[in-house]
Amino acid sequence: MLQLGLIGYPVGHSLSPWIHNRLLAQSGLEGEYQLLEIKPENFHQEIQKLKKSSLNGFNITIPYKEKILPYLDETDEAANHLGAVNTVKVENGRWIGYNTDGIGYVHSIKNRFPDLSFPDTRVLILGSGGAARGIFFALADAGCLKIDLANRTVDKAAALIEELNLKVKSSALNLEDAALQLANYDFVVQTTSVGMNPDTDAQIISLDNLKENVIVSDIVYRPMETQFLLEAERKKARLHFGHEMLWQQAVYSFQVWTNKKLETSQMMQEFEDKLKGVHHAD
Ligand code: NAP
Repeated sequence: MLQLGLIGYPVGHSLSPWIHNRLLAQSGLEGEYQLLEIKPENFHQEIQKLKKSSLNGFNITIPYKEKILPYLDETDEAANHLGAVNTVKVENGRWIGYNTDGIGYVHSIKNRFPDLSFPDTRVLILGSGGAARGIFFALADAGCLKIDLANRTVDKAAALIEELNLKVKSSALNLEDAALQLANYDFVVQTTSVGMNPDTDAQIISLDNLKENVIVSDIVYRPMETQFLLEAERKKARLHFGHEMLWQQAVYSFQVWTNKKLETSQMMQEFEDKLKGVHHAD
């Protein structure tokens, strides 16, 4: 019986139990995925308890993606480079940390645009927070050669480029310049929280200067269709949605725990319907 879960604070609104219980059912494995909410003041004691528990693996969300590092016995390359972990696999009592956010993002892009040639794609990432960090790393790892970062606080974009020191050509821009220079990009990914519920009218930059047929991605998934994506659609962009990343990073975590690679397109459709509020009989 697989014991899986999510640690974070708060975790009450997480979609992870829904996703992982579906993946468990599909895989034919017996198990459960529980929410393990840990208050910051109890973090150390609760982690010590988990070390002695029968957990086989767990996800980590805000605010513990970095705080978990000292408790791990090993980390994968992405987690090591990013200094943040969102998935732990317990193997013979050893805790092994992974970061599946960026890789999940790239899987979801490959899924939607199977013919995309990463080396020929000029990328603009809007935002320079934790999610941008994982996506920047994974897109470089997937073969992109030109990835610019634009952020409200432009110094953070510059610092991220310098810190990760990836083998790509990168510049840091402010948001105004990013909007003016949009025609230079084939792929624009919005990684800030702007446009998220309840401020759904907000949009990080105008897409006036966007070329046709550009890939426009927004990792915000509440709502599914952000203002940013609605404008991109009007500009005849090819759209990619936040829930696709959420789904694929979960599928990749599940693969880390179980070594099972599942066909999940049907389940992802159900997930989409769930986010849209469509009811399924089960
Ligand atoms: P974070 O580390 O706090 O970074 C937030 C980013 O948003 C920073 O670049 C920040 O700019 C920018 N920002 C926030 N408010 C802004 C505003 N009013 N105007 C302009 N820029 C603003 O957060 P994160 O962990 O990267 O998460 C960002 C978003 O991605 C959240 O909405 C989260 O739910 C979503 N997300 C989705 C997935 C998925 O699977 N789809 C996964 C992870 C995260 P400054 O640096 O200037 O403050």
